[in-house]
Amino acid sequence: MRPSLGGPRLLLRRLREVMAEPISAQQRLDKLVVLIAANMVAEVCSVYVLRADGVLELYATEGLNRSQVHNTQMRVGQGLVGTVAKDATPLALADAQGHPNFLFFAELGEELFNAFLGVPILRSGDTLGVLVVQNRSHRLYSEDEIEALQTVAVVLAEMIASGDLQAIARPGTLLALDRPHQLKGLALSDAIGLGHVVLHEPRYVVANVVAEDARVEERRLDQAIEALKVSIDDLIARAEMARAGEHREILEAYRMFANDRGWATRMREAVATGLTAEAAVQRVQSDTRARLLRVADPYLREKLHDMDDLSNRLMRQLIGLESGPAGRLLPKDAIIVARNMGPAELLDYERERIRGLVLEEGSQTAHVTIVAKALGIATVGHVENVLTLVTDGDAIIVDGSSGMVHIRPPPDVEVAYAEKVRLRAKRQEVYRELRGTPSVTRDGTDIALLLNAGLIVDLPHLADTGARGIGLFRTELQFMVASTFPRISEQTRLYTSVLDEAAGAPVTFRSLDIGGDKVLPYMASEEEENPAMGWRAIRLTLDKPGLLRSQIRALLMAAKGRELRLMFPMISDVTEFDRAKELVDREVAYLSRMKQNGPTSIKLGAMVEVPSILWQLDALTRRVDFLSVGSNDLLQFFFASDRGNAKLSGRFDALSVPVLSALRSIAMAGHRASVPVTLCGELAGRPLEAMALLGIGFRSISMAPSSIGPVKAMLLELDLKDLEAELHPLLSAGEPVPDLRRRLMAYAESRGVPL
Ligand code: PEP
Ligand code: MG
Repeated sequence: MRPSLGGPRLLLRRLREVMAEPISAQQRLDKLVVLIAANMVAEVCSVYVLRADGVLELYATEGLNRSQVHNTQMRVGQGLVGTVAKDATPLALADAQGHPNFLFFAELGEELFNAFLGVPILRSGDTLGVLVVQNRSHRLYSEDEIEALQTVAVVLAEMIASGDLQAIARPGTLLALDRPHQLKGLALSDAIGLGHVVLHEPRYVVANVVAEDARVEERRLDQAIEALKVSIDDLIARAEMARAGEHREILEAYRMFANDRGWATRMREAVATGLTAEAAVQRVQSDTRARLLRVADPYLREKLHDMDDLSNRLMRQLIGLESGPAGRLLPKDAIIVARNMGPAELLDYERERIRGLVLEEGSQTAHVTIVAKALGIATVGHVENVLTLVTDGDAIIVDGSSGMVHIRPPPDVEVAYAEKVRLRAKRQEVYRELRGTPSVTRDGTDIALLLNAGLIVDLPHLADTGARGIGLFRTELQFMVASTFPRISEQTRLYTSVLDEAAGAPVTFRSLDIGGDKVLPYMASEEEENPAMGWRAIRLTLDKPGLLRSQIRALLMAAKGRELRLMFPMISDVTEFDRAKELVDREVAYLSRMKQNGPTSIKLGAMVEVPSILWQLDALTRRVDFLSVGSNDLLQFFFASDRGNAKLSGRFDALSVPVLSALRSIAMAGHRASVPVTLCGELAGRPLEAMALLGIGFRSISMAPSSIGPVKAMLLELDLKDLEAELHPLLSAGEPVPDLRRRLMAYAESRGVPL
């Protein structure tokens, strides 16, 4: 290594002093370049800042023509500086002028210099600028010098990120940091949210990048890495592994990286150059992110993603910060951004402050989506790389109807969205006006529109929407938001208020459906290969009859003097229903022994959501009072396609001959036996799908509150006989109809049925 004036640590200390001086941003930059040039024994040091329009602008220089500051400009990819920005990696050349990308800027006076070292100024993986040193001699910069310059770039990144440079930017130009981004994802919950980013896994803003004492920082880093390893081992050892995003493979990958010497070494090297432990973690993470944004290989991306998560965890170790909402102050228009999360994690947030949810993963029927929908939170999933593009507090718009996400939107986009929100509110007004209109098709068929619910806050939607009742009350949500098992008295209290608030409208409770991705943090569960097909729902509660009986008892007491409607999830064999019914009978007998009054009538139903039950429908309808089709689960098992897997969502279409034929057979079985059938999966809430369901014989459908209006508007214009005449020949032809969705859409359009 060439001798330098005091090495990187001293340089960092001097830089820190300059950062603290009460001078203008330009003066600060001018001082920094002089210091860096001297320390690196370079004749030139220049800072180029990237603007939002993709142009790199010279902001300060020592050694080149200073009159060119704010004048010399180049595009990303153009010249050597543009190449560094484009590749987001350092470029060291002994003979710069011999490089194919070399571009001669006569006005700078560069012709004298041969050696070139440029490093990207990175923050959260985003290129904010380029820092360059140059020498006359044909020298090759050493690894240590490259490392040192990258460390200095961290300081500059923080300076740019602090907004300090805005004051000296050319009028009307925006820095890359504030660049808007528009991303397309998958629309999951139809609402529009305008607000500010809250990272589910918070990222720490490193206030102090320069170490006071490098040895102390080394020790802190080592301790944090050790603690991280232990915490990951702990997570792996813990039984509750099925929580979304924390699957065993991911954790195993984390463990591998945490033990990866390369990763630790890079952070230690960064500390050795004089950064604090936090700044070192951030620097290495930033490199990882920059690579993540540039690799196409999905396998490698996944790995880089895991490393990024791990860096977040390490940072939290260092500063003792919790993930999730615990103790955090949310803005009142929070848009939560996460890679993925479980439904309970979303419920942990203060509902009133959440305007939207953006996930890098996610799918239509994952439980977190269902909860988001129930809460009316605008949600978009499959938003690639969103985590690398946002920081806490960024302005963001989530359009859950089109799947667009706008990061740091320019004013015209904000105005357009404000208008869109106003129009939607108007449309909601129209839907609200429909709430008193009977839900009868044009040719006079009455359709029951019911609500899916799970929390007491859902109940007012009955009145808002004019829904006829609650078709599915997911009782597990109460269990998921609790920190310990809700006692019988607590359950009774909730069910009583649900029935009170429903004021005589029918409420169909579903017995606990836990397991799968619905994990109770306080209940030990064993790790399962396939939790969705595992020990969940009725399987779990029949094996733990005490649990089911206490729930049944609470329901019986709550429904005292009124009707109780209760259904059991995931019935795959009629005997499971028989056994559940037996438990109900025993609880009824217990109540009468206790001389307690029970419900005036009890209606018991089964959910049809496991394909095996399709071949036992007549036996089932002989036993039950009603059926309810859980199309979310039924379809995942029908197509063997995980409902929570982002890669599979949208791959199989429910509007296909096999699915509609299967669903029709359920509706017909109910019809034959005069057993009412409802469908309560997400299908029911989408107007086109709901139209198809009516066309194959469903007369009762249950959905999220926001869907009632659009579905009612659709059916009011529908002539069912006409639709049946169109649809039935297609289903009976014994041939696939590849464009069934398109045909149904064309049908609706031709008949003026609003979708
Ligand atoms: C379903 O599976 O369609 C259903 C309604 O139940 P859940 O989404 O709660 O599994
Ligand atoms: Mg289900």
